[in-house]
Amino acid sequence: MTVIPIRVYGDPVLNQVATEVENIDGRIAALAESMIETMYEAPGVGLAANQIGVQKRLFVYDKGDGPVVVVNPVIVESAGEWTYEEGCLSVPGMSWEITRPNEVHLVGYDIDGNEISVEADEFEGRIFQHEMDHLNGVLLIERLDGEQRREAKKLLRSQRVQLGVNDPDGLEQLLGE
Ligand code: ZN
Repeated sequence: MTVIPIRVYGDPVLNQVATEVENIDGRIAALAESMIETMYEAPGVGLAANQIGVQKRLFVYDKGDGPVVVVNPVIVESAGEWTYEEGCLSVPGMSWEITRPNEVHLVGYDIDGNEISVEADEFEGRIFQHEMDHLNGVLLIERLDGEQRREAKKLLRSQRVQLGVNDPDGLEQLLGE
């Protein structure tokens, strides 16, 4: 298992749509293990594969009772509305109140290739929607309204160096340079 640098705002990989996993094999299992370790190290409650530069449709999360891997996730139903302060490991140090559906029904596969089906609301439902956005190339910033988004982008542009746009591997950021 390896901790892998997390890609941050400005890295084009975060704006690309990830592709379906065709075979849930040993390589995907190893990737998922690294994603779990990277998520805990950050620390965070969820991580999508493209946040570490791998364009595959899987994410990992831990809502407080252990790590879970979801491969080829799809939200098949959503309902209600819930506002919650949401942050993102790829937009470090920032968070916004964001309204999204409250309840979601997620289907996909576990790391052994078994079908899974989870109905979740509030925090867990929010994690699912946030990670699905990543896999669809949508960053948290795009969920803000016009004025909020303009302000956030302005702030992020002024922090570009710290956010590692000139540091694609995130090494300088890790070393605090
Ligand atoms: Zn995120």
